[in-house]
Amino acid sequence: VIELGQAERSVTTTCAYCGVGCSFNAEVKGNTVVRMVPNKNGHANHGHACVKGRFAWGYATHPDRIKTPMIRDSIHEPWRSVSWDEAIGYAARRFKEIQAQYGRNAVGGLTSSRCTNEETYLVQKLVRAAFGNNNVDTCARVCHSPTGYGLKVTLGESAGTQDFDSVLSADVVLVIGANPTDGHPVFGSQLKRRLREGAKLIVADPRGIDLVRSPHIRAEHHLQLRPGSNVALLNSLGHVIATEGLINEAFVAERCEAEAFEQWRTFVSEQRNSPEAMEALTGVPAASVRAAARLYATGGNAAIYYGLGVTEHSQGSSTVMAIANLAMATGNIGRPGVGVNPLRGQNNVQGSCDMGSFPHELPGYRHVSDPVARPQFEAAWGVKLLDEPGLRIPNMLAAAHAGTFKGMYIQGEDPAQSDPDTRHVTDALKAMECVVIQDLFLNETAKYAHVFLPGASFLEKNGTFTNAERRISPVRKVMPALAGKEDWEVTVALSNALGYPMNYKHPSEIMDEIAALTPTFSGVSYAKLDRLGSIQWPCNDEAPEGTPIMHEDAFVRGKGRFVVTEFIPTEERTSRKRPLVLTTGRILSQYNVGAQTRRTANKAWHAEDILELHPVDAEDRGIKDGDWVGINSRAGETVMRAKVTERMQPGVVYTTFHHPESGANVITTDNSDWATNCPEYKVTAVQVRKVEVP
Ligand code: SF4
Repeated sequence: VIELGQAERSVTTTCAYCGVGCSFNAEVKGNTVVRMVPNKNGHANHGHACVKGRFAWGYATHPDRIKTPMIRDSIHEPWRSVSWDEAIGYAARRFKEIQAQYGRNAVGGLTSSRCTNEETYLVQKLVRAAFGNNNVDTCARVCHSPTGYGLKVTLGESAGTQDFDSVLSADVVLVIGANPTDGHPVFGSQLKRRLREGAKLIVADPRGIDLVRSPHIRAEHHLQLRPGSNVALLNSLGHVIATEGLINEAFVAERCEAEAFEQWRTFVSEQRNSPEAMEALTGVPAASVRAAARLYATGGNAAIYYGLGVTEHSQGSSTVMAIANLAMATGNIGRPGVGVNPLRGQNNVQGSCDMGSFPHELPGYRHVSDPVARPQFEAAWGVKLLDEPGLRIPNMLAAAHAGTFKGMYIQGEDPAQSDPDTRHVTDALKAMECVVIQDLFLNETAKYAHVFLPGASFLEKNGTFTNAERRISPVRKVMPALAGKEDWEVTVALSNALGYPMNYKHPSEIMDEIAALTPTFSGVSYAKLDRLGSIQWPCNDEAPEGTPIMHEDAFVRGKGRFVVTEFIPTEERTSRKRPLVLTTGRILSQYNVGAQTRRTANKAWHAEDILELHPVDAEDRGIKDGDWVGINSRAGETVMRAKVTERMQPGVVYTTFHHPESGANVITTDNSDWATNCPEYKVTAVQVRKVEVP
């Protein structure tokens, strides 16, 4: 904290929006933020920022903020404002009653990638130690859980391999299923800078994203694949590399498991995986696939960046592993300018996963059955822990429908709007006896809640976020918590009321506990974060100042492991009744379900979700720009306005999900990734028709 004058201060903190994790200096007068100035010393952003971090922080003091705890016995009753003690005591009593009546597995917790590492760590600790089960999950389940799975299996660590600056050494960049200029704007600018310097670009995306069409940048290849065919496309890229002598044999021999590699080589070399054989399925001309594969394999340092267009599929985990296969086969791992780089959606997706908020993993990605790790946590926490994984979000919802799951502690997440198949989610919430929401606003899920615990915005608390490049950055308190408590304090109070004592005076003590129990964080402390500004994990005795690039001399798992990724089509099929495929994404000015950006001036830039469709599909249906259209899937129906654009390919439509009124997730389905249950937001068969103004 630098004192600037009598009434002004500047506090260095971290943006609470996307996974770039830009550093800002919040300039404050009294307890009011005057402006957010991008920090020139920020390692992730080097003084740059986008319209969200720079301008859209006013939601923190929006009149919609709830500043008083509230309770109600039934969701049909009005809320009653109560004291913190009464609300927390009420929640604890209801949870204990449920466990007494239905068993200890009848309750669980949901953490958020919006929250700090310290808050997330405490929620999973509360679930495991106070509830006595492993029923904890995170909203990362619905975005990047396949990244965690796929990169752990192939490379040995559930994280991206590079720092952002690495892109400045790339000669070839493959962007697949990501739209960095909208979703990760500051990284998108860094990428564009490198492309302007001459790096070659390959885009694999069903839609003509800005990178394809930018006036100053020309993608060498736009592989405009059909939604749901990622694995087929990646296998065909592998086919070209394997059959045209483009494998980096020396790298593979030295760094990878030989038997698994030979299985992969044999598999992708089969004619059925050739670009020609896959062309009808992917919709991408075979010649383009061949040219792109040659460019990726021979163009120098080649880096892959990907986003939710990779993970949010029924084969999300297979797609991540297929990407890792390509990087290993060409030796594009372990140095600047290369690598496998997941662009994490929210500010703390990486950290939320690191902190053990999946039901099968303790902090640091150790399985709950790990005979070494679990006893360490048991000793530190003073409780016996279960060695069986608990319930994932979809399992909790299913159990609620079945009448065996009755209570949920939800911190910073809004499943009623953000999870797929809204009706299924809300029916599950209605079936529960105690839903506790900890949030800034009365979100959609709060309609089904019994206890509301007011949350604190990023401006009102201390902690850390971990961005997409594994960079742990400080979040520093700029103004007092409007409701009187920081989120970590609320979790501590709830745990104590449940009978499991927690005692921390400051989030730095929580980080000290994390460091003591997590080998990849053992060198992290608030003092070091103050000194260095930020730290990329692993940070330990071997790397006391952190690790910008992983897998340099060997993979974390030892030898890299190729995985045969057979293409299996999604069960979601178009039909005569629903002939179009809907896919979803984000736009620059808005953020996810819009709880924050809709409460700022950014709302004016994108006041509604719009359905994009190709002119051919529009003409077939008599739809013109601005017309209202009804969109029907097997899950439900919604209405929004249409935009006719050649960005889309015929047969594919696209929308965002920033506004609850348009309800994009009313129509997404319950299909999910085979390994992680990450929902298949990117492929929904729909019927689109013109409707009257609603
Ligand atoms: Fe915030 Fe992401 Fe924008 Fe940076 S790029 S200012 S982290 S939203």
